[in-house]
Amino acid sequence: MTAESRPTDLGQPAGQPHVIPSYLDPAHLGPWGIYLEQVDRVTPYLGKLAYWVETLKRPKRILIVDVPIHLDDGSVAHFEGYRVQHNTSRGPAKGGVRFHQDVTLSEVMALSAWMTVKNAAVNLPYGGGKGGIRIDPRHYSQGELERLTRRYTTEIGLIIGPEKDIPAPDVNTNPQVMAWMMDTYSMNTGKTATGVVTGKPVALGGSLGRADATGRGVFVTGEAAMRKVGVRLEGARIAVQGFGNVGNAAARIFHDAGAKIVAIQDVSGTVISTAGIDPYAALEHLRGTGSILGLSGTEPLERDGFWDVDCDVMIPAALENQLTEANAHRIRAKVVIEGANGPTTPAADDILQGNGVTVVPDVLANAGGVTVSYFEWVQDFSSFFWTEDEINARLERIMREAFASLWEVSQKHGVTLRTAAFIVACTRVLEARALRGLYP
Ligand code: GLU
Repeated sequence: MTAESRPTDLGQPAGQPHVIPSYLDPAHLGPWGIYLEQVDRVTPYLGKLAYWVETLKRPKRILIVDVPIHLDDGSVAHFEGYRVQHNTSRGPAKGGVRFHQDVTLSEVMALSAWMTVKNAAVNLPYGGGKGGIRIDPRHYSQGELERLTRRYTTEIGLIIGPEKDIPAPDVNTNPQVMAWMMDTYSMNTGKTATGVVTGKPVALGGSLGRADATGRGVFVTGEAAMRKVGVRLEGARIAVQGFGNVGNAAARIFHDAGAKIVAIQDVSGTVISTAGIDPYAALEHLRGTGSILGLSGTEPLERDGFWDVDCDVMIPAALENQLTEANAHRIRAKVVIEGANGPTTPAADDILQGNGVTVVPDVLANAGGVTVSYFEWVQDFSSFFWTEDEINARLERIMREAFASLWEVSQKHGVTLRTAAFIVACTRVLEARALRGLYP
């Protein structure tokens, strides 16, 4: 169709020019629906930039890939992989890759969008992205996981790169997986490209301090929130859900600072101790036995009882959709620090707010990981590496300043810290969007 023959009247009602893609069907939204509700809550605060808000409501690019591998027994298995680039208005897409049996497109879309908000909330020069493979990695050997990672990296190699989209660890992925991704991308492009992923081993251009960075950010922002609402750090009783990279580091750092871990829940079970749990001993026990249960000095608790634990601070650091309208009213903590992405539904947010519980939202609380990922990426580009003290000091400064400015916005508008973070982040993203303008 030539420009002249293109109809000027497309017959669409004014203000409704969008066709809804099938993966945005309102009937099957899942975690993506939660994200959309969060965007709706912030739209009234966006002023003129609300004109561009539809940009936030659909991912820029979605890639679904088939990942076939040879299993150790010689058979072939196929897995479903995703890479979603939600937004690149402020810089390349950035965000982790998770291996989990429950990964869905809706989940990866929501996680990629939360990366956009997180990166903008702490003012990192990135957009948002996320990837995942639908697999339970516990049932596969190292060799099988290496082949899976390499094939997945090759399949998404079309859209990733140090200046395009930079993956990192997330649930069930780690520095070794990042090393395989870096090597595969490098072999495919004919050059060693360390900056294509972050969260790598230090020997391969990884950053000192990256392993504990998310937990450190949980501590820094959580401690700042505790101070605001009058919860003393010394002896503060903390319940942690999830004892992976995030929950474990947060528990250790809080413990070292004088707080008391009174409950830990992970996939293997739930343990409590009013006297306090030594997170170092808990980690050793978990590594030795494969379970958190049976840790000396603790008692087991049935799974659902975790929400009733008498504590001052709760740290959900596992998966999304944990604090819901079914359990939010039972939370006895005064502060919830979201180590996980998306652990609280909007309905639970309202209940917690009504009960005077302060929630430090994921997009702020767990931003320490991607902040040190940013340091890693900068160090890789400049081939000049910083000391761990420098990294931790810069991380703490960024997290403290982000907390302080979001707290101020939340007070000014009388909104939760989550809405404040969305106001600041969406304003930054949409301002960039408006300045760049529509191409072509
Ligand atoms: N997966 C982490 C997150 O959800 C880190 C992402 C990154 O470092 O890019 O924030």
